[in-house]
Amino acid sequence: MSAAASLAAGVLAKYEPVIGLEVHAQLLTATKIFCGCANKFGSEPNTNICAVCLGLPGALPVLNAKAVEFATLASLALHCTVNERSIFARKNYFYPDLPKGYQISQYDRPLAEHGWIEVPAAEGSGKRIGITRLHMEEDAGKSLHEGFSDSATRTYLDLNRCGTPLIEIVSEPDMRTPGEAFEYLTRLREILLYCGVSDCNMEEGSLRCDANVSVRPRGQEKFGTKAEVKNVNSFRFIRAALEYEIERQAEILESGGRVLQETRLWNADEGRTYSMRSKEQAHDYRYFPEPDLQPLIVSPQFLSETRKKLPELPEARRARMIAEYDLAAQDAQTLTASRAFADRFEAAAGRARTPRRVANLLLNEVVGRLKALGLELEQSPVSMAGIVLAADLLDEGKISSKQMKQLFDAAFEKSEDFATVYEREKPEQITDAAALEKLIDEAIAANPKQVEQYRSGKKTMAGFFVGQVMRATKGQANPALLNELVTKKLEG
Ligand SMILES: [Zn+2]
Repeated sequence: MSAAASLAAGVLAKYEPVIGLEVHAQLLTATKIFCGCANKFGSEPNTNICAVCLGLPGALPVLNAKAVEFATLASLALHCTVNERSIFARKNYFYPDLPKGYQISQYDRPLAEHGWIEVPAAEGSGKRIGITRLHMEEDAGKSLHEGFSDSATRTYLDLNRCGTPLIEIVSEPDMRTPGEAFEYLTRLREILLYCGVSDCNMEEGSLRCDANVSVRPRGQEKFGTKAEVKNVNSFRFIRAALEYEIERQAEILESGGRVLQETRLWNADEGRTYSMRSKEQAHDYRYFPEPDLQPLIVSPQFLSETRKKLPELPEARRARMIAEYDLAAQDAQTLTASRAFADRFEAAAGRARTPRRVANLLLNEVVGRLKALGLELEQSPVSMAGIVLAADLLDEGKISSKQMKQLFDAAFEKSEDFATVYEREKPEQITDAAALEKLIDEAIAANPKQVEQYRSGKKTMAGFFVGQVMRATKGQANPALLNELVTKKLEG
């Protein structure tokens, strides 16, 4: 339970939250940002290090061209203006996991600025969340506080992560609810994944998020004093941490207190934030231009070459797929959750008579069964060709939906493709019109009320009679023929 449980909803309604997010994403380059060390998660501690990423005296950094390409690609996908000239700067601070004593980042001349992400807003409209800047920087190492027999008294260091290429994406304080922040992060992650610039794996730390949050009385223009919430390592926790923080601050203001400007840490176990340090005492990083690196020049030619590498982005792809395949918005959302998933669907959908049916079967018959088995789509016993076959058989009325479900059940049970199961079992179909008519007559006689409804204009009642006969035949009636006969009988 959060602190807010005790806070009346009325009090909360008096205050408007103002939220801005700072996201760090690790770039998927083979090597680090300023040296040739492997950029890899999970190696033995302190094995991917060299004089450059440790900052030993005399070692000189060399900028990784691939990191620049990825950062530029992300900037373009986020509608940012890419600066032709940006400057690397030293951010000076002391911390055990930073042997150099400074981090190379970008300060007053970042790579890119003035972008936006659109998030869904009320009634199907969209809201643009501004992106202030996107800059490149290197990561620090990692302090290991647990996992060793003497962890109670010692801290170990793993410096493999020193020099990992990062982009930091800073949003404008444009979000007004934890839900909007959640949507912003979801879209941002999706865009970075589509561009292939980061794996955005939060558990491995390749996507990290800090939130700036304040509240102000509704109607007031001036922002309230903000707190920065750090250490939030899942989207679900971001939402919870923001909700907690908004309630905490509203409660302080409501009781006549003053919100302190400070950095707070999220504690997931307790579901609350703790004060870490006051911002008033925060150290000055004494930024200055990195003397060992030239200004980064992004030429118009490089920019246009990079622009050509942009994939179709999730939002545009959803809109196109809805139009092209007649999909429901929610289905399009699910199908575009990853670029690979959308690619597989589209490759198959184009071969089916009715692409929408492929979407339905994939989402309703395959995804759930795979999830239950803990399998990915690539590991599915039923191939995309199998799904297309099922869709076409349904379309042609060669199998009923009940038979389709049984065939999918059998395929997953025996770990076989749909075509294999279909060829072997060739479900029987009743195509004998006289036999079906007899069953329809019986259904009509047994349900006078539904007949009445049909005849007084409720034509969808035909489906009720189709269902009755399907049940009576254990799903073996030929659907096309049955539909035709039911309509004939009811009209007659
Ligand atoms: Zn190195």
